[in-house]
Amino acid sequence: MCSLLLGALAAHHADAARELPARLSAPHAALLVTALRSPRQRPSADPPQTSSTSEPAPPSYRDGRVITGATSHRLILFTFDDGPDLKTTPRLLDELDAAGVHAVFFTVASRLMGHGVRQRAQAELLREIERRGHLIGHHTVHHRQLPLLSNAEIEAEVNDGQRAIERVLGHRPYLLRPPGGARSPRVDRLLAARGYTEMLWNLGTGDFQVRSADDVVRTFRRVLARRERENGERGGIVLMHDPHAWSVEAFPRIVAELRSKNCQLLERGEELYDIVDDPRFFFEARGEDDGTALAQPAEPTARVLAARQARLRRETRARCSQVASR
Ligand SMILES: [Zn+2]
Repeated sequence: MCSLLLGALAAHHADAARELPARLSAPHAALLVTALRSPRQRPSADPPQTSSTSEPAPPSYRDGRVITGATSHRLILFTFDDGPDLKTTPRLLDELDAAGVHAVFFTVASRLMGHGVRQRAQAELLREIERRGHLIGHHTVHHRQLPLLSNAEIEAEVNDGQRAIERVLGHRPYLLRPPGGARSPRVDRLLAARGYTEMLWNLGTGDFQVRSADDVVRTFRRVLARRERENGERGGIVLMHDPHAWSVEAFPRIVAELRSKNCQLLERGEELYDIVDDPRFFFEARGEDDGTALAQPAEPTARVLAARQARLRRETRARCSQVASR
């Protein structure tokens, strides 16, 4: 295992940890134009808060470096892996709507393959995820650790899954999360050759190892604090799994906790937690790289960050004073 680059960031295990999902938010699509510019430039994610007059093409996120989630800013992107699941994902979609959050869902394509009632319902659920503004990513067909497979086997995992997703959504995905976060230079190059951007995570919730929402919330809290303390990463990409009922239950609690922390951060004049729905905040174009390079820590432009924080401060001030006056 030492020869593998294991998921870099999150503490997690070699046994197919579950992860996955994708999203896509139309209103925000306008921002991405900056993402694919010259090779060595920072992503300077100019995110989408401005409404646009024209209909921009949806962002593809193709040809990015390996996204780790590292950022010194309090930017949080939620990702959900291993679904869609008929029992749990619909409720998560409602929770996401209620929280006003868009996420990325990394789907295991075997759930979409075949003509059974279940597979067809799962395919329809995947379409529903996208309709509700989330982004869909590829999490392979069988959720096997890619570095352990031959080139031909990896190609089958990627190409078959891509075809299945494309059949369901009408377009291919460009974000891919390797199962378990397991990578190697060979895997990276094979994925890069197909245009994929690998999205890892730096805020694991350990939700595949526990059975209660309490545990998930507690782990998230601990990991968030540890990343800041040890790496100076105050935000990043959160890994959760929508097939787990306890993860679905934990999600609104995590959002509530971040928003409640914002009340305190506002008083102290600190940067607030900003739940973003756009991978462009973490995206960095690959350029001439062979696909094995990790993206630099996300560093959105000061202008974008300031505008988002200003709006967040207004919302937070209103919300926290309401809470306080109750
Ligand atoms: Zn997974």
